[in-house]
Amino acid sequence: MQKYTLKDFMRDFPDDKTCLEWLKNHRYPDGIYCKTCEKVTPHHHLISSRKSYSCQNCRNHVHPTANTIFHKSRTPLTTWFYVIYRIAQTHGNISAKQIERETGVTYKTAWRMSKLIRSRLDETDENRNDKN
Ligand SMILES: [Zn+2]
Repeated sequence: MQKYTLKDFMRDFPDDKTCLEWLKNHRYPDGIYCKTCEKVTPHHHLISSRKSYSCQNCRNHVHPTANTIFHKSRTPLTTWFYVIYRIAQTHGNISAKQIERETGVTYKTAWRMSKLIRSRLDETDENRNDKN
């Protein structure tokens, strides 16, 4: 496996919009299902300020961050993605203090983010073990 460097990460996720797009494609690989239209509608407009996508037919909003660790967080998605990248890269061996230094969030936020991300990464590991 080729090493995924910080430079690669910065290229892949340069801004919040890119992170949101990634999240959308990850959660809705076959397109966004609109509850109001009761079907997958082909065109959804990104509304960056609300971190949501609006259905072109009915303007119903879909939030790709709903029910994720990013939900209702004031921390930018780029910061979240960066911390996920760093935790994965260091196999969890990065302290909240270090995250605080690297991203500029408060220690409390760094600790909370790190705890949430670790719990999700643990879940992924468990799933992987089940398959073996
Ligand atoms: Zn719709």
